[in-house]
Amino acid sequence: MADQPIFGIYGASGCGRGIMPLAREQVLRLGLSREQLVFIDDGPQARQVNGQSVLSYAEFLACAAAERHVALAIANSAIREKLAQQCAQDGILPWTVQAGNVVIMDEVCIGEGALLSPFVTLTSNIQIGRYFHANLYSYVEHDCRIGDYVTFAPGVRCNGNVVIADHAYIGAGAVIKQGRPGQPLVIGHHAVVGMGAVVTRDVPPETTVIGNPARPMQKG
Ligand code: UDP
Repeated sequence: MADQPIFGIYGASGCGRGIMPLAREQVLRLGLSREQLVFIDDGPQARQVNGQSVLSYAEFLACAAAERHVALAIANSAIREKLAQQCAQDGILPWTVQAGNVVIMDEVCIGEGALLSPFVTLTSNIQIGRYFHANLYSYVEHDCRIGDYVTFAPGVRCNGNVVIADHAYIGAGAVIKQGRPGQPLVIGHHAVVGMGAVVTRDVPPETTVIGNPARPMQKG
């Protein structure tokens, strides 16, 4: 195996188990074997999950391999950022995993390490940063700009001319209203949009919004 690459899905919990079958398809398509694909988990519950080996990070680093590639399948974006830095320091290559039925139209630029689940659609003229997660059935419409470490839960509907800053989290089934050319609807960094929220106006940074129309959540 020393002259072969090894691929890892970091996180063997819910997110990782949803990504592993897509990763397996990618690895097999490259003509590699499924033994060259493992879960990496720092708090492993088992040595095997859904038929794939689970290694600690130290074990993954110790494997004889020509190259190491890792996809960060953990929904928490702060953990993704921490692990991305660790992997980069250790010479591990970021790996993009996407379902075979993802639709990507014209002029879409996606940063490294993205995870695109089944039925995701990215239409045209879209810019997306590093380590984006788009879960099942999410879409991003035309002329959107999305930052680094942004997370979409399943079924997010992000309409055109929207800007989403770094580390924002968009909950399941949220709908984001279309902005205007030159006057996008903006969701600030580290903002959280609750599930099912209907976002009709800008969301300030580090703010959680819920409901229809979405409003900041009252504290206490
Ligand atoms: N995890 C890890 N290293 C870290 C932080 C988390 O290996 O530094 C693992 C953790 O042990 C768990 C998974 O990542 O198995 C995160 O699972 P969780 O159910 O919290 O979230 P999700 O799978 O939904 O992202």
